[in-house]
Amino acid sequence: MKKASSNPQTRQWQDLGRDHHLPPFTDYKQLNEKGPRIITRASGVHLWDSEGNRILDGMAGLWCVNVGYGREELAEAAARQMRELPYYNLFFQTAHPPALELAKAIAELAPEGMNHVFFTGSGSEANDTVLRMVRHYWAVKGKPSKKVVIGRWNAYHGSTVAGASLGGMKGLHGQGDLPIPGIEHIDQPYWFGEGGDLDPDEFGTRVAEQLESKILDLGEENVAAFIAEPVQGAGGVIVPPETYWPKIREILDKYDILFAADEVICGFGRTGEWFGSQHYGLKPDLMSIAKGLTSGYVPMGGVVVRDEVVEVLNQGGEFYHGFTYSGHPVAAAVALENIRILREEGIVERVKSETAPYLQHRWRQLAEHPLVGETRGVGMVAALELVKNKHSRERFPAEQAVGMRCREFCFDNGLVMRAVGDTMIIAPPLVIDPVEIDELIAKAHKCLDLTASAVLG
Ligand SMILES: *Cc1c(COP(=O)(O)O)cnc(C)c1O
Repeated sequence: MKKASSNPQTRQWQDLGRDHHLPPFTDYKQLNEKGPRIITRASGVHLWDSEGNRILDGMAGLWCVNVGYGREELAEAAARQMRELPYYNLFFQTAHPPALELAKAIAELAPEGMNHVFFTGSGSEANDTVLRMVRHYWAVKGKPSKKVVIGRWNAYHGSTVAGASLGGMKGLHGQGDLPIPGIEHIDQPYWFGEGGDLDPDEFGTRVAEQLESKILDLGEENVAAFIAEPVQGAGGVIVPPETYWPKIREILDKYDILFAADEVICGFGRTGEWFGSQHYGLKPDLMSIAKGLTSGYVPMGGVVVRDEVVEVLNQGGEFYHGFTYSGHPVAAAVALENIRILREEGIVERVKSETAPYLQHRWRQLAEHPLVGETRGVGMVAALELVKNKHSRERFPAEQAVGMRCREFCFDNGLVMRAVGDTMIIAPPLVIDPVEIDELIAKAHKCLDLTASAVLG
C-alpha cells in the first residue's frame, strides 16, 4: 500500500496519467487504482521521485543508461547538432556526417568483418529490419524459399509485429494472432526453471540440439536465420550453461543459415566486452543494437551487418526498407559522444576488470538467503530466483506474486530491482562504483528479508 503523498503535485500528475496516458506494458485498471510513481530527475546511478525519495536505479532505466544519468557532454552534443542540422533523411542518395561517422565508430568496435550499419529508431525496428534483410538476402542469392527464422521461447525481441513474433513470449503472442507465419521457436537455455533433473551442462547441450532438429524438420532449404540474445534479458537474465553456445556454434557452422545476435541489451559493454557476441566467442552475421548505443538519452537502434551479407545486398537492387528517423542526426551525434565517453573513460574495461567481478561476488552472497534458490549473472547483469524451497527449487504459487511484492519492497526502500515472475533482476549503469554496489546489495538484502517475513509469516 502506498503512503500518503507529501507533494500535492504528485496527485495532479497521477490524475493526468489516468485521464490521458496509455503507458506501455501496463494493466491499466490496476495502475489507475494507485497511480504511477513520478520520476522527476536523476544523476549518476540515482533517481529522484516527486516525493523526494532517492532511489538507486538497479536497472539503468530499461537496460540502457550505460554511462549513467546527468552527462552534460551528451546534452551538449544534442544541442550542438540541433543547431547545426536538426534533421535530414538518408533516403534519396543523401547522407550527413553524424550517421556516417557513427557507422564507422560502431564498425571499429564490432566483431571482425562486421563493417556496415543500417540505422533504425529502436530495438524493435532493428529486429524488423533483421527479418526483412535476411529474407531479402536469400532471395537475392537465388534461394527465395529460405524464409523461416528460428527464435527461442521466452526471448524478447521487441514489441512490433515482427519483434513480438521473433520473440517467444506467450503473453505477447496471445494478443493479436502472433507469431506471424514463417517464425518458429525452440526452448531457451533456462536450467533453473526448465532443467529438471539434468545437470546444467547436459541440459545446455540438449536445448542447443533443438536448433539442429528444428532445421532438419523445416528443411535447411527453408530456413533463413536463427536469432538469439547472447544473454536473454527481459526473459529473466537467462545466462546459458557453458555448453550451450559452443554447441549452437557447431550447428550454425554445419548449416547454411544466418545468425542474428540480438545485442540490444548485451551491446555497448553490458557483459564487460563491447558486445555479448565477443564475450561468448560468437560469429554473428547480423547484430541488432539499441539501448546502450545512446545510453538511452535519445532513441536509436540499428543492425550491424557482416561484409559477406553486404556483398549480396549490393547485388539486390533497391532494399525497400527504412525509417524517417533512420540515422537521425541528433541521435547519431549523441551516440557518437556516448561511445567516446565509454572509450575514453575506459568504462567497458573497468566493468570487466573491476566493477563486474565485484558486483558478481557480492550478488552471489545473496544466495545464502533462505528465499534465494539461485544467483547468476555476467558482467553488469544478474538475477536471483525466489523460491519456497532452496533445495528442491520449488516455487511459490503464482497467485502469491512474490516477485512483485519483492519489487515493491525494493522501490519503497530506494532500489529499482525488476521482477520477472519470481526472478529478480538487475542491470545497473556501467559506471556504478564499489560503494554504490555495496548500497545496492545492502538494499537488496533488506528487501529479501522484508519479502521473507511477508510471505513466510
Ligand atoms: C528492449 C529490447 C528490444 C526492443 O527494443 P525497443 O527499443 O524497446 O524497441 C529488442 N531486443 C532486446 C533484447 C531488448 O531487450
